[in-house]
Amino acid sequence: MHNGFNTQAATFRPQMTSQVYYIIVAMMLASATLSAIFFIAWKTMGEKRYALSWSVAFLAATLQWFFNLQPKLFPSFEVYWLTVNAFALAVITLGIRGHCQRTRCQYLPGNLWPYAGLLYAAVVWATVIEPNVGLRTALIPAAACLSLLLSAIIVLRHRDVPRPAEWAAGTSLVLFGISQGIAAGMAAMQGPTGDITYQALYLNFNFMTLPAGYMATGMFVIFMLASDISIDMKEIAIRDQLTGVLNRRGLGEQGAQAYASSRRTGRPVSVVMTDIDRFKTINDDFGHACGDDALVHFSKLLIEGRRAEDILARVGGEEFALILPGTPLERALEIADRLRTKIEAKEMMVNGVAVNMTASFGVAAISAKDTCLSDTITRADRALYRSKRAGRNQVDLDSSQKMLAEDGTLKSIVS
Ligand code: GH3
Ligand code: MG
Ligand code: MG
Repeated sequence: MHNGFNTQAATFRPQMTSQVYYIIVAMMLASATLSAIFFIAWKTMGEKRYALSWSVAFLAATLQWFFNLQPKLFPSFEVYWLTVNAFALAVITLGIRGHCQRTRCQYLPGNLWPYAGLLYAAVVWATVIEPNVGLRTALIPAAACLSLLLSAIIVLRHRDVPRPAEWAAGTSLVLFGISQGIAAGMAAMQGPTGDITYQALYLNFNFMTLPAGYMATGMFVIFMLASDISIDMKEIAIRDQLTGVLNRRGLGEQGAQAYASSRRTGRPVSVVMTDIDRFKTINDDFGHACGDDALVHFSKLLIEGRRAEDILARVGGEEFALILPGTPLERALEIADRLRTKIEAKEMMVNGVAVNMTASFGVAAISAKDTCLSDTITRADRALYRSKRAGRNQVDLDSSQKMLAEDGTLKSIVS
């Protein structure tokens, strides 16, 4: 990719300028550092496979630059050139593979090595079979250009709104890709015999843009990795491990947003609290593991049919909160009763025995007196415990809101 030699002489006599030599040394050391950083990131940050791919990519790059500095290790120019290009292709392939792994990209083939093999065949052809200086120099920067631009598309298109770190990485990939495209064009202009003017142009341009492009993409990819990890950590902090729904902390955060938005817009927000009836008997009869399965089964029934803006959280052992933005009280009561019927009807297999679970519900809507969503939740919770006392497997409404309903339409829904 980065031939720093005048190779027009019939014999293999590398002539590297001192500037190019020092740039290649810097690239080799930078690659080794990035490889170590990605390896440590892989080891310490959840063994993400893409971090390992990039660590290996930068290791291959370190070796590539090392061989660039040591042409005398090779018996001929052809062997040297094919070795350096093999490593450069490995860097390119592993680089894009890392982006595919990170985003679980669907539109590129999972195995990119056959394509790298085809490109390598073209390098062999232009080096040994039909020697062509322009082509053999242009192929790798052209492949780098294509893979950097494809990587940018993968990074920027895999979610609706890219994260700031993805914008940064995507932009640097595009700029680096364009500069490799220009370098490939200049390399190709050398022609089959290697025009010395275009060779100088290619070398000057390539070695001016390469360090910045290399470091920027490396750094921004690390930034992206750190941002992935911080988002993963935040997700872990707000989710219940067993059921995958929000935990109390998640409910606190998302509930506060729903409350603030309701206060701003005047839209209603209803709260449905639910608790499995006599759950202790499931644990006692079938064991704690079956109790866990029952909790997952229950949370799935609550998740089904939920709108994107509804918030579901596990707030206690077998107690869940469902926050329904934009839903008035009457509608929330209907939803709660539909859930109650569904849970009652859907039998669950526990150790080969069909078990019918039931749950009790309490419903309340944000009122003018509430100062935060917890006030509404507390009222819904009281309604839930009234359902329990009244015999379980039923829905009750917050008493203050029930009074309001007594001379209106809610009464028929509540009764
Ligand atoms: P009620 O109808 O009054 O709600 O009765 P209940 O048995 O459902 O309620 P109680 O509060 O007496 O018991 C709740 C049980 O839930 C006790 C606790 O061991 C169990 N529990 C809490 N968290 C978990 C959990 O994560 N997994 C399992 N398997 N059981 C849990
Ligand atoms: Mg219970
Ligand atoms: Mg309970």
